[in-house]
Amino acid sequence: MYISVLFIFKSFLMKNLLFILLSVIALNVSAQDTYLQCGKIIDVESGKVWAEKTIVVSDNKIKSIQNGFITGSSTDVTIDLKNKTILPGFIDLHVHIESESNPNTYIDRFTDNEADIAFKSTVFAKKTLLAGFTTVRDLGGSGVNIAIRNAINKGIVDGPRVFTSGKSIATTGGHADPTNGRSHEFTGDPGPKEGVVNSPDEGRKAVRQRYKDGADVIKITATGGVLSVAKNGKNPQFTVEEIKAITETANDYGMLTAAHAHGDEGMKRAILGGIKTIEHGSYMSDETMELMKKHDAYLVPTITAGKQVAEKAEVKGYFPEVVAVKAREIGPLIQGTFGRAYKKGVKIAFGTDAGVFPHGLNAKEFGYMVEAGMPAIEAIQSATITNANLLGVGDEIGLIKNGYLADIVAVSGDPLKNITVLETVSFVMKNGIVYKNN
Ligand SMILES: [Zn+2]
Repeated sequence: MYISVLFIFKSFLMKNLLFILLSVIALNVSAQDTYLQCGKIIDVESGKVWAEKTIVVSDNKIKSIQNGFITGSSTDVTIDLKNKTILPGFIDLHVHIESESNPNTYIDRFTDNEADIAFKSTVFAKKTLLAGFTTVRDLGGSGVNIAIRNAINKGIVDGPRVFTSGKSIATTGGHADPTNGRSHEFTGDPGPKEGVVNSPDEGRKAVRQRYKDGADVIKITATGGVLSVAKNGKNPQFTVEEIKAITETANDYGMLTAAHAHGDEGMKRAILGGIKTIEHGSYMSDETMELMKKHDAYLVPTITAGKQVAEKAEVKGYFPEVVAVKAREIGPLIQGTFGRAYKKGVKIAFGTDAGVFPHGLNAKEFGYMVEAGMPAIEAIQSATITNANLLGVGDEIGLIKNGYLADIVAVSGDPLKNITVLETVSFVMKNGIVYKNN
C-alpha cells in the first residue's frame, strides 16, 4: 500500500516537472514576434484613423500597439505596411463555402460526391481568406461546411474562421428542402435530420440534430427562395410556432439564428418567432422594419447576390426558367430595400451570400452599401465589430486592440474616401499567421 502511494506521488511529480520543463522550452521558442509598421490604422470602434503605428503580434494575438515605426529584435519579423491602410479582418455573415454558382449547379447535385464538394470548398475557403475575410458564417450546405471548419481550425486547409449552420432547416417543398425539383423517384420524404420539418417538435429535433452534427449556428428558410426549383420565391413557409420552437431550442444551445426571407409575411413571422438576423429582406415593408427595430433583429443585406442573380437570369440557359423568372423579379430589389432599412434605423450586419457569386468577391458588398446611402465607416463597422458581437466573439475579433486575435488586413488608398479599395486587399494575417503580403 505504502509503496504504491509513493509510486503515484513520484509519477505525479515527474509529470509536473516535465510539464514545467516543456513550458520553459515553449516560452523560449515562441519569443519571435511580428512587428507590423502601419501607415494608417482605421480604429473601427471610434471611427478615427491612427497614423504611424506599429502593431506587435505575439503568437496569435495583438500584444501591443505602439506609436511610430518600431523594428523588433533580430529574431523578430518586421513587415513594412507604411504605405497602407490597416483594418481588422472582415467578417461575412452569409456565405456558402461549399459551392459556387455555375451553369451546371443543378447537375452537380447529382454528380458530386462528398469528397468532390470537399475539394472544391478548400479552394473557395482560400479565396475568401485571401480577399481579407478572416471570419465567415456559413449559412447552409451538405455538412461538408462542418468538416472544412474543423480542417481550417487544425491548420490542414487555409481558410477563414468558420461558424457554420451545417444543413439549413426548411419545410416540405420549401427553399432548402434538399429534394426540390427532383423526379418522384428521387424526392423521398426527408425529415429533421435532412433539414425538413413540419411541426414545432420536428423543429426542436432538427436544431438538436445540428448541435449533434457540430453546427455553430441555425439557419431556416422562412420564405421561398430564388435558386430553388420551385415556383414561389416569397411565400411564408413556417408558422410562428415552428419558428419559436426552433429559436428557443437554438438559444438553449447558444446558437445564433438566421432566417432567409424575401417575402414580407415570412420575415414578420421570423422576427416574431425570435430570429436574430434576417437574410436578404427583399420585400420588407416599413411596418416590418419597425418590427425589426422593436425586436433588435439585424438585416443581412446580400446585395451582391441580388445583383448577380439578376445578371445571370439574362444569360440563356444559366438558370432553369422557373428560377430565372424569380431572379429577374427579386434580385434587383435588394439594394433598394437595404437603403430604406438603413435610413429607417434598422441594424445592419454585413453579409453577401458568396457562393451565389464567386467567392473572393465578398468586398463588392461594401461598395453597394455605400452606393445605397451608408457611410463607409458604418459599412466597415458592420463587417467587423457588429458581426463579431453577433457571433458572440466581440471580445476576441473585430477590432485591432491589445489582447485580440491578430486578424489584420491592409489595403492601398483610403477606404473612407473610396470604399472600393477594400476589393483589393494586399496583406492578410489571420490568427497571427501571414497568408498574403503583396
Ligand atoms: Zn444564402
